[in-house]
Amino acid sequence: MNQKLHIFDSFLNQINEGVLVFNEFGQLMYLNKNGEQHFQLKNKKIKNYYIWQFFDYFGSKYDWEKKKKVLKNVSEEKFIYLKKDLLVDTQFTLSVVVNHRVIDSNDFYVVTYKDISDAIRSENIITEKNNHLNLFHKNIPAAIYEFIINGKESYFSYISNAFGKIFGFAININDEKWNTGIKLHPDDFQSFIETIKKTEVDISEFKFTGRLLLDDKTMWFDTNATITYTDDKIIFNGIVLNITERKEIELENLSKRKFNDSVLLNIPADVAVFDKDHNYLFINSKGIANQELRNWMIGKNDFDYCAFKGVDTGLAQIRRDYFNKAKETKEQVDWIDEIKRPDKSVYLYRRFYPFYVENRFVYMIGYGIDVTELKEAQHQLERQNINLLEKNQELERFTHVASHDLQEPLLSLISYSKLLEDEYGDILDDEGKLFVQFINKSATRMRTLISGLMEYTRINRKENIVNSDLNLLLKDVQDDLTDKINNYSAIISINELPTIKCYPTFVRILFQNLISNAIKFTHKDSIPKINISCKERNSDWLFLIEDNGIGINFKDVEEIFLIFKRLHNEKTYSGSGIGLAHCKKIVEIHNGEIWVESVVGKGSIFNFTISKNI
Ligand code: ADP
Repeated sequence: MNQKLHIFDSFLNQINEGVLVFNEFGQLMYLNKNGEQHFQLKNKKIKNYYIWQFFDYFGSKYDWEKKKKVLKNVSEEKFIYLKKDLLVDTQFTLSVVVNHRVIDSNDFYVVTYKDISDAIRSENIITEKNNHLNLFHKNIPAAIYEFIINGKESYFSYISNAFGKIFGFAININDEKWNTGIKLHPDDFQSFIETIKKTEVDISEFKFTGRLLLDDKTMWFDTNATITYTDDKIIFNGIVLNITERKEIELENLSKRKFNDSVLLNIPADVAVFDKDHNYLFINSKGIANQELRNWMIGKNDFDYCAFKGVDTGLAQIRRDYFNKAKETKEQVDWIDEIKRPDKSVYLYRRFYPFYVENRFVYMIGYGIDVTELKEAQHQLERQNINLLEKNQELERFTHVASHDLQEPLLSLISYSKLLEDEYGDILDDEGKLFVQFINKSATRMRTLISGLMEYTRINRKENIVNSDLNLLLKDVQDDLTDKINNYSAIISINELPTIKCYPTFVRILFQNLISNAIKFTHKDSIPKINISCKERNSDWLFLIEDNGIGINFKDVEEIFLIFKRLHNEKTYSGSGIGLAHCKKIVEIHNGEIWVESVVGKGSIFNFTISKNI
């Protein structure tokens, strides 16, 4: 190779293009380094290769004959050659130029090519990016803009069409009066200015969320922009979104949350929520008033609190036990905590309510209500009850003693008035005799009343409770009342009665009084019809004594149970007014109640209950 050729060769080896030279037969005569590398022909005998083996463009040996004729006339031909590189599994693209040259009257074909794969690839990427951007433009409720501040002037140099769609109004490009008719919400103005200033100082990204006022509409927007400072301009390249809908939902949720929080924080009960390990997740201000301490407690438990306060862990342990119980049983647990203070005890009614979702323990809700006042009232009531019981017993003792002591002078009164009538009857005139009879009658009546009173004091729980068949007991009662029943020709029907636990002597008096009244308080010349029945209920027995008697006025239905209360005089219906008071007391020692339902002129139903638990 002569000097000239050598220089030419080294020049061809430096360039970026690949160069291949073929003779008129299409046989490879020369290729530069680039070509050698590209077609992997280093140390290969280049003359064994033909032009159509490099580029399909030239087809076959036969096609070449035709092609070279064309090339002779056009002197240059360009084409793009695509080939899959099997080795690296990528496609490469060559931009090829073929020149026809005649050197020393021989035809040569110089092929120069350039690898444009990278350029093509980046072009593809750009197209793809553009597609993405278009997609984004079309589908995302956001607009892209370029905003320029130039001294005192400011304008949008670009804003995508999406803006109009999103906000419902358009902004003119390159128009200084772009903001005519648009207002920033007055509450956002200050923070907007501050954000701009901060952006300028920090040279940071511009981020702002605020409200636009357009006529009577408020729209929330959110913008984000990068900022470029040039000598005289500040350029904002950014994106703006309409977030009104999202913001409204957010604000609604916030107000709901605020409402819930304010309810929870302010209800007059301790409310706390715990995680599965009994650590606090939430406490309201009634639980712990001090906000700092309340915040500190989150994530901690009662033992941490005791350690912090330096107090005994007794209550914390009790609570832990109840916590575990509620968690294990999956049921709410209630108890009362007594917190001993130097001056008095404070009582808290507490509840743990385990919250399970699909059988998985999520959290525990704890409540606490101060029941100190209630507890104190209960204690006071208990004390008063004991007091009352003592007073009652005292009163009964007094009644008993008084009645007992009164019996004797009364007996004297009765016997002496009788003696007076017998011995001095002759010397007394008729009026005198009548007076003595009055004295005798009144004293006798008084005696009846006093013995009734004594009997009343004897009705108490000192007797034995016996399982009694009431059918048998009622038979005895009827036997005792035989005379009365016969006198009035009364008809008594008794349904099947139960065997119950009771004080039988008293229950006997109870039935006796009620049946006796039912016979006694009938219309003149009518036959008393009485029915006795019983209904078993959950916790007691309900007895009904129905009659067809004179009935009782509604206003009197309660008073008749008071001792000595009578609705009639002795002439119309005899009696002492003690019977129903006895009945009431007997029912009460059986933990029951007595009342009457009645229709005047038609009859009455006396109801009473006897508890199954006496
Ligand atoms: P007494 O029978 O001695 O008058 P009670 O205490 O037994 O006293 O009854 C109080 C009053 O209730 C009676 O005086 C009567 O007016 C009224 N009374 C009681 N039982 C009946 C009844 N079955 N029907 C109508 N009135 C009745």
